[in-house]
Amino acid sequence: MIYNCPLDENPHIKCPLCLRYSFNIGNLKIGQWSLRCCESCGQQLHIVRSTRSSATAEPTGKKQTKITVTLVSDTVPPIEMKVNTWRPLHSDNRSPEEFFQNQKFYYEEYTCPTNWLYEVEQMSVGNDHDPHGLFRLVSIEEGHFKDPCLLGEEE
Ligand SMILES: [Zn+2]
Repeated sequence: MIYNCPLDENPHIKCPLCLRYSFNIGNLKIGQWSLRCCESCGQQLHIVRSTRSSATAEPTGKKQTKITVTLVSDTVPPIEMKVNTWRPLHSDNRSPEEFFQNQKFYYEEYTCPTNWLYEVEQMSVGNDHDPHGLFRLVSIEEGHFKDPCLLGEEE
């Protein structure tokens, strides 16, 4: 099924399957397409910018998996973080060990914590204003973590 999606002026389109996530398609010129996964329901969509004011979105039938990544800081006392994220589709052919090693590199070396703390613009440890490696990867579990204080509330 192909969905016709109106663009708002940003330009964004809403995921036609869950209506809870908006894709920014400002990078697509008319006639261009891209494969994107919804950050709410995980479904992959083939999105085509059809006109200045509309796009089409067709589900591919593929879906990325919700995961919870647990990280612990190298501080005293240690700070534990639970990050709700996604196992990307391109990692589906990796074994759990390979995926863990890939994520270990990502969280322990490649990325700054501000990349998964979306509203934090800068984090500093002493004079280090780009503290890669501040957290160690502890575990990866399927599903998204829910704060026990919020259990019972609707997602
Ligand atoms: Zn969705």
